[in-house]
Amino acid sequence: MKHLAFLTSLSLLLSLLAIPAFAGEGALKLTLSQTECTQGEFFIVEAKGAQDEPTLFFMERKWQMFPEKEGRWIAMVPAENLSTPGGYAFLLQDGEREQRREVRVKASSLPVQYITLRGSKAGLHATETEKTRVRAALHSLTTEKLNRGPFTLPCNGAVTSIFGRKRSYNGGPATSYHKGVDFGAPSGTPILAPASGAVVLAGTVEEGFVVHGNTVILDHGRGLTSVYLHMSAITVKEGDLVQQGEEIGRVGHTGISTAPHLHWGAYLYGISVNPLLLLKESAL
Ligand SMILES: [Zn+2]
Repeated sequence: MKHLAFLTSLSLLLSLLAIPAFAGEGALKLTLSQTECTQGEFFIVEAKGAQDEPTLFFMERKWQMFPEKEGRWIAMVPAENLSTPGGYAFLLQDGEREQRREVRVKASSLPVQYITLRGSKAGLHATETEKTRVRAALHSLTTEKLNRGPFTLPCNGAVTSIFGRKRSYNGGPATSYHKGVDFGAPSGTPILAPASGAVVLAGTVEEGFVVHGNTVILDHGRGLTSVYLHMSAITVKEGDLVQQGEEIGRVGHTGISTAPHLHWGAYLYGISVNPLLLLKESAL
């Protein structure tokens, strides 16, 4: 009898304790793809149970979230390659309610790369046209998700330069880094869209793209864009919707480039991330 009374009070206690955890559909939930990443990588953030569009903060800024099915909200949030390594927190707010998750950003330990530019290309600076148009295209925030599943490689060629290495040009300070992956390939090699998207920029040397060379930028939706530089030819135009695997141009040597290659970059909210991470099934 005593035993039964104990069980009854235990189950009553458990049911009381369970109330906050099972408060129904409305419980606010914040889920992260991982609790640590390296500079230049990103977190996938999911919110559930928000009454309205939730507000997400990380590294002292607000990040737009995008609606998914069944009341979920998603964001891919970058840990910038030059951000200070250490502990940070994601904070999700929905009205009065909030959820917080601690994460760690680890230092990338790639060595500095020293690059010498000779002749006419050493003195080239990006024109206002290319700076303005590239910046605008990289900050596209299309709510709709335009790609499906993992990316594929955009070009058949060996990787000649990896993402994220800090760079010094002609002996200057290493305040920049390689914002993409380079594939060495002969001029004319086809460049294929690694994922479906909208062409938000198709810029040529003649229009002022003297540093980037002939350039294409694809918008994949939800703050994710990808760039293709130094092309010998562009085979799409702004406003086109391209499918994964469709040709968008050809490998070349235009702009600041020491040999024919494709520079492939990926950006989240205008911040450069390692594009090779998008090849993983779990990334998207
Ligand atoms: Zn490059």
